Amino acid sequence: MTIADHIKELHQELDPKGVQLVAVSKFHPVEKLIEAYEAGQRIFGESRVQELVAKRPNLPADTRWHFIGHLQTNKVKQIIGNVELIESVDTIHLLDVIDEESAKKGVVTKVLMQLHVAQEETKFGFSVEELLNYFTARQFENLKATHICGVMGMASNTDDTDRIRCDFTTIKKTFDKILALCPDLRGFDIVSMGMSDDHKIAIECGSNLVRIGTDIFGQREY
Ligand SMILES: *Cc1c(COP(=O)(O)O)cnc(C)c1O
Repeated sequence: MTIADHIKELHQELDPKGVQLVAVSKFHPVEKLIEAYEAGQRIFGESRVQELVAKRPNLPADTRWHFIGHLQTNKVKQIIGNVELIESVDTIHLLDVIDEESAKKGVVTKVLMQLHVAQEETKFGFSVEELLNYFTARQFENLKATHICGVMGMASNTDDTDRIRCDFTTIKKTFDKILALCPDLRGFDIVSMGMSDDHKIAIECGSNLVRIGTDIFGQREY
């Protein structure tokens, strides 16, 4: 199947469910992104600032960019104003830097808070407790130019579907708890979870935004 076939098939599956598709294009050349764009794809996910900034001018202006990788604070300046959504805020310090830079540039940056629920130590993100504490203390009220739109998370890297289901359920439950803690939170409505191998389970567990790379573009060449 071609990239266009994959895009069309995924949209047929996801659109009726109201699930948004981020085509994760990291490590793939611009030609492949254009192929996906021409098949109707508009949201692309990148995990490195340099790569995103280099690719961006090569796609039409209505392309929507999501940053999904670990973001170093010294790279924040380059990304502000170049993306629709930063999905991977993993510390309060990073959030503060994003807020400062956004205020300086006179833009509002949309972000998701990344939750760490997977077994692997190597993954980034807040623990459930840290995130609930953040919202209990209503610390988001101090933000000047950043809008928190929801949560993002990954399941453990395993074939054990019970484990994967359990991780996604934890993420969705944490999202629900935040809304219950802060019912006045506006525009907090994104649950980003699910990748090529586990997006069907993620949707069953309440995801409304999936990030799919390999199933669309093939294996990445690092
Ligand atoms: C690379 C990546 C994906 C896409 O993974 P695939 O298995 O290729 O679909 C999704 N989310 C994040 C955060 C990623 O880094």
